[in-house]
Amino acid sequence: MPAQPPAFAARAHTVGGSPVREILALTERPGVISFAGGLPAPELFDAEGLRAAYAEALSHSASRALQYSTTEGAPELREIVAARVTARGLETTADDLLITTGSQQALTLVATTLLDPGDTVLVENPTYLAALQCFGHAGARVVAVPCDENGIIPQALEEAVRTERPKLLYCVPTFQNPTGRTLPAARRAAVAEIAERLGIWLIEDDPYGELRYEGGSVPWLAAHPGAQDRTALLGSFSKTMAPGLRLGWLRAPAALRRAAGIAKQAADLHTSTVDQIAAARYLDRTDLDAHLHKIRGAYRERRDALLSGLGEALPTGSTWNRPEGGMFIWARLPQGLDSQDLLKSAVAQDVAYVPGAPFFTGTPDHATLRLSFTTHTPQEISEGLRRLARAVRG
Ligand code: PMP
Repeated sequence: MPAQPPAFAARAHTVGGSPVREILALTERPGVISFAGGLPAPELFDAEGLRAAYAEALSHSASRALQYSTTEGAPELREIVAARVTARGLETTADDLLITTGSQQALTLVATTLLDPGDTVLVENPTYLAALQCFGHAGARVVAVPCDENGIIPQALEEAVRTERPKLLYCVPTFQNPTGRTLPAARRAAVAEIAERLGIWLIEDDPYGELRYEGGSVPWLAAHPGAQDRTALLGSFSKTMAPGLRLGWLRAPAALRRAAGIAKQAADLHTSTVDQIAAARYLDRTDLDAHLHKIRGAYRERRDALLSGLGEALPTGSTWNRPEGGMFIWARLPQGLDSQDLLKSAVAQDVAYVPGAPFFTGTPDHATLRLSFTTHTPQEISEGLRRLARAVRG
């Protein structure tokens, strides 16, 4: 009899797959109008512009584009990202940045760098599922900070830092996934002040910040004086160009960035050279802000279509928010109703959303649900809402 190889590491069992992926699989039947996914609208990808940029990268810079390159990332892409970050109010040079394979990798690298098994991480409640998976893999103890409709409550954060002794706070302050909410400026200042005074790291994950449809922008946490030496700011081209590129970046204080760079060497040596060079060529030739203007226009219309019909579709007594940007609306069914139960009737009517429970740490709120408005036209959204209304009526 052959001897069995040893068991998997404990983390392979303790960190489950994303329940949202399982729900998405259910909703991928043709004909389903899905508010479940969190995907950018594919018809808004600038495929032609990217095709030309890849052709150029492969014809003019093939020997570089197809070669191994540095872990930090292509200098021209880092320059462009640095200029964009600076223009958004945070002085940044190419040297402050590490290009990553999506911002998801930046999260993993920072977690690997900062966390020992058993360390405590504070998160918003609810929060982004793949961040919970990432902290699970790092062996961290995840504790939720009490939040209200505006996000983290600073007094609750202070108390949690004092009692839980965390190493870091992970948050998505702008157009959060899953709730769409944005942490107001005064609370950001308070979070930065608490982080400085009580001594914790901050991870500011910002994949949605450039998808603002109304209202004025709110400064990054990383831009506050107390937070500057302790914030890992994560950015992404997934929502502004295309997620398939897998291009993101980490802006962090030098020591953290260097250590994350070493973690990246162990993970993948560097992010795809051809993708970085093509993206840099694309950004050099294209007015990304004009492209963003188009995306924002379409998403604003889709958000408004969803908001305008939600009252008719959801059970009487439901509540929901009105995010000024991003991809998601967060709703709550009346007391006693479970969004997982309603999903069964919804899927039978060929419409879907994601129940909110999996996004919570600790006790979940089963009445909540996340609706994404980006991948359907306003007409399809109206039809989806009519189907949802039928599901509600049973
Ligand atoms: N953070 C949050 C909050 C997200 O919602 C996502 C993906 N939707 C990511 C990070 C990962 O994005 P990327 O494609 O840049 O890896």
